[in-house]
Parts: sequence; C-alpha cells; structure tokens
Amino acid sequence: MSAQTPPTLLKLARQALLRDETVDMSALDKLPMELLPALFKEALTGRHTMTVKAMVAAWPFPCLPVGALMKTPDLETLQAVLAGVDMQLQRKIHSRRRKLQVLDLRKKHHEFWSIWAGAEEGDCSAEDPDEQQVVKVLPRYALRWLLKVVADLWLRPCFHEEHIETLELMISWDMLKLSQVAPFLGRMRNLRKFFLTNTVKNVFIIGNRTTDQEEKCIRKFISQFYKLDCLQYLSMNGIYFLRDHLHLVLGCLMAPLETLSITSCNLSQSDLNSLSECPKLFQLKHLDMKRVGLTSLDLRPLQILLENVADTLQSLDLKACWISDSHLTMLIPALSKCSQLANVSFYDNYFSMHNLRKLLQHTANLSKMNVEQYPAPLECYDELGYISTERFTQLCAEEIDRLRAIRQPKCISFATLICSRCGERSIYDQELRLCVCQQR
Ligand SMILES: [Zn+2]
Repeated sequence: MSAQTPPTLLKLARQALLRDETVDMSALDKLPMELLPALFKEALTGRHTMTVKAMVAAWPFPCLPVGALMKTPDLETLQAVLAGVDMQLQRKIHSRRRKLQVLDLRKKHHEFWSIWAGAEEGDCSAEDPDEQQVVKVLPRYALRWLLKVVADLWLRPCFHEEHIETLELMISWDMLKLSQVAPFLGRMRNLRKFFLTNTVKNVFIIGNRTTDQEEKCIRKFISQFYKLDCLQYLSMNGIYFLRDHLHLVLGCLMAPLETLSITSCNLSQSDLNSLSECPKLFQLKHLDMKRVGLTSLDLRPLQILLENVADTLQSLDLKACWISDSHLTMLIPALSKCSQLANVSFYDNYFSMHNLRKLLQHTANLSKMNVEQYPAPLECYDELGYISTERFTQLCAEEIDRLRAIRQPKCISFATLICSRCGERSIYDQELRLCVCQQR
C-alpha cells in the first residue's frame, strides 16, 4: 500500500471553487490575488468556462498571458476569456485592483505562470517583488492603450489584414523574409501606423551595399506603400536599407503623413533631397531624425522641409545628428517660422555659444514651446573634451536668463555629450545635475 500525499487546504479550496460554476466577480475580488493564477490555470485546463469568464473579468494583474496555457486551441474557452475581457473593460476602475492592460495570446512559455502558479501552494504567497516582475513585463504601451492584445500572427491568404490599423514589425537582416511579408503589408489597407524596427544593433558597422537579390526584395517591400492609403504615422528605426531608398519610400506615400520617424541610420544626400520634394510630408506634425548622421550632408533640403511644415510642425528631434554651426545657421531661419513647435531636441550636436544663442534668439517668439533640449555649447569643454562644470553652469544660466527676458521657458535643458566613463550626461535644467564621475 503506497502512501499518498493528501491535498493541501489551498488545493481543496480551489477544487471547491471550481465546483461552484456560479462563482461571481465580487467573490473573486475578495480572494487574495496570489491565489488566482493557480485557480485560473485549473479552471482553464478543466474547461470551467463560467469560472474562467468570471476570473478574467476580475483579473487583478496587469497582464494575462493566457496563450501560454492554451496549447490546444479551444474556441469555447477562448470565447470565455474574451467575454471576461469585455466584462472587465466595462467595469468601472476598481479601487483595490488594477485593470488588465495586456492580454497575451501567444502560445509560448510565460514567466508569469511559473512565478505565480508554478510552485505548490506554500510558495505562491511570495511577496510584492514577484508582482513587480510581472509589472516589468508591461511595456510602454500600457500607458497608451486601454488594452493591448498580443498574438502570434500567422500570415496566410485568408488572414484579414484589412482590419489591422497599427503594425509593429521587427526585422533582422533577412531581406528575403521581408519580401515575403510584403504582400501582406500591401493588403493592410487601413493601416494608419507602421513601425519598422531593425533588431540588430550596430547598424553602422554593417556595410550599406546590397546585392541584386536584396535590392529586388527591398523594392518589392517598399512598393507596398503604394497600397497604404490611410498611413499617417511612419517610423523606421535602424533600417539600413533606407540609404539610397528613402526617395522610393516617400514616393510611394499615398496620404499626407503626420509623423515621420527615421532614426539610427545613414542617409545619402539624395535621400535627404527627397524630404524636400515629397508633398506628402508638407503637413507633418512630428519629425524625428535622431541618430541619423547628417554631418557630411548639405541640409538645405531639411531647411526647405521645415519651411514647408512651418504651420504644422509640433515636434522636431535632431538628437545625435552630429551637426555643427554651419548646419544650424542654415536651419535657424526656417525654425523661427515653425509657429506650432512645442518640443525640440538638439542634444548631441556641436554648437558654439554664439550660434546656440542665435538659435534661442530666433526661436524666442515660439509661444507654444514646451520642451527644449539643447547641447552644451562647445565652449564648455576643455581641449581634452572634458566638461568644465563651472563654465557649463555659467553659460547655461546666462542663456536661460536671456530667454526669460522674452518668454518664460517651461522645460528647458542643456546637456553634455554622454560621458565616456559613466555613460551618463551632465544636465543643466535650472539646476546642475552632473554625471556620476563629475560628482566625485
Ligand atoms: Zn561621467
């Protein structure tokens, strides 16, 4: 006769709850939240759909990675989950528990379950740090979306691409795969926001040459933009093939863009020229070109673009473009006309005090300006490139005082380049905040 371990009290409690299909949200609200993941797991596995629905409606965690528990597709259970989500979204904000923010339907292992429901009872009463781990899973979207649904996308002809309004596509260097995705992109007729991000770092190390085969793939992908009639927001981050192809992308745009974000890549002069020649950019509200090396380029096309968007542009990010005084001088007249400008960033550029002052003088009448980020003037560095904190403080304070004589800056800051020793910046924004090594 073998000895069997008797079920724990918590297990018995869970079983009792699962037997009661009439369990409602108010009862679940009273349960310690630590108990819910294990209970949910059992309810889902046992296909107790009423309980699943009630539990999702009362789910206290910001994330529900339910896909990890649904190895075998089950329509009834999925419907119960979605019905629970509907109920939760309709509930008023609960004072005790957070609302669900991410529904993760991907069929892949998720740490949430091993943290909360993997261990047997006594272990699952772990404290808040565990919850914080779960919260960390929450990405930046949580603040922007009422509910984010994450699902594996299986691209095949019967997929209803026309329902997709926002697409975030992470790519590596495989152009062939990109071209395979191209026809699906072209069918997303209602796409409004498209984020294309390269997941491989050090884009500048990899050469800019493309083979004939790659060229074909790139052109096939870009040609799909012709079909995106509703596109308003285009973000391309670290996309190396944009070099010498940006004019093709812009030439394919069918609707005026509100946001153009081209970041962390190298552009050629002809790419830059295309910015001033594309009428679909002339209503831009947001232009982000941070970490685009513009040092060796003629910025006249950017100047023309700024003149064209003077009545609409609200934010401009030219952080880490490594431009210098001569570039800035060219842009200042156009910048001074951008009457709607509220956010600008020029961190990590090489401006002398004289030209920085000129920029501030010429943009002093921009009454909507809210966040202003300027680089520390070159005069703040010594011959070895180290910042003189005294000079930095003095020059920045003087500039802010000058500006105050014309308008009240709201959120203005000057920053040094990133310190090579500690990886931080020293920032002057009404007060001085030094990088770690400058504090010693
Ligand atoms: Zn430092």
